[in-house]
Amino acid sequence: MGLMTAGAALAELRAGNGRFVSELGSGTGASGKRRRELPAGQEPCAIILGCSDARVPAEIVFDQGLGDLFVIRVAGNIVAPSQVGSVEFAAEAFGTRLVVVLGHTNCGAIHATLEQLARPWREQSRNLSSIVNRIRPAVAGLLERTPPPDRRELEQLAVRANIRMSADHLRHGSEVLEQLIERDGLLVVGAEYSVATGEVDFFDGVPPAG
Ligand SMILES: [Zn+2]
Repeated sequence: MGLMTAGAALAELRAGNGRFVSELGSGTGASGKRRRELPAGQEPCAIILGCSDARVPAEIVFDQGLGDLFVIRVAGNIVAPSQVGSVEFAAEAFGTRLVVVLGHTNCGAIHATLEQLARPWREQSRNLSSIVNRIRPAVAGLLERTPPPDRRELEQLAVRANIRMSADHLRHGSEVLEQLIERDGLLVVGAEYSVATGEVDFFDGVPPAG
């Protein structure tokens, strides 16, 4: 695919998601021919930090193939040190200039976090808590709104708040990434995938067209 600017990569992902939604996916991205080209190296056009949810495989929803995306998946698309390190690695090693935090509607990790906030006395494994604890700061404020959002609205707001927080964490939680943003055109955007429609909405950090 070659080295791409962040803007070109974003256009490619938008086009790919359009193909996916309209069921016009090429399906050639995982061919044997493509595979045989790849041992020499990779030039992924985007780094995706997405949720592990089985309904949101990044390559499929963006209609991309082997070697096209550098994907990090973790429940709740949280940002902990190993995720930051993975993004740093890909941005430096491959020159990839677009990072997408890809959350989604009906996210189980968000649901679990809201449950935990509502019933803090309930036991939770230490490991699961480490995920919930990363999401909690993004969503705790939503509970203090007046009037309080209803359950459905709360989950919708929480998904987006968590995506925004992860994107901000990548923008400001790493010197390496800060420098790439300042000097080399690295762009970190937040996007939400709808498990109902298949559409990806890039709603955070996208520069105005022009
Ligand atoms: Zn999820």
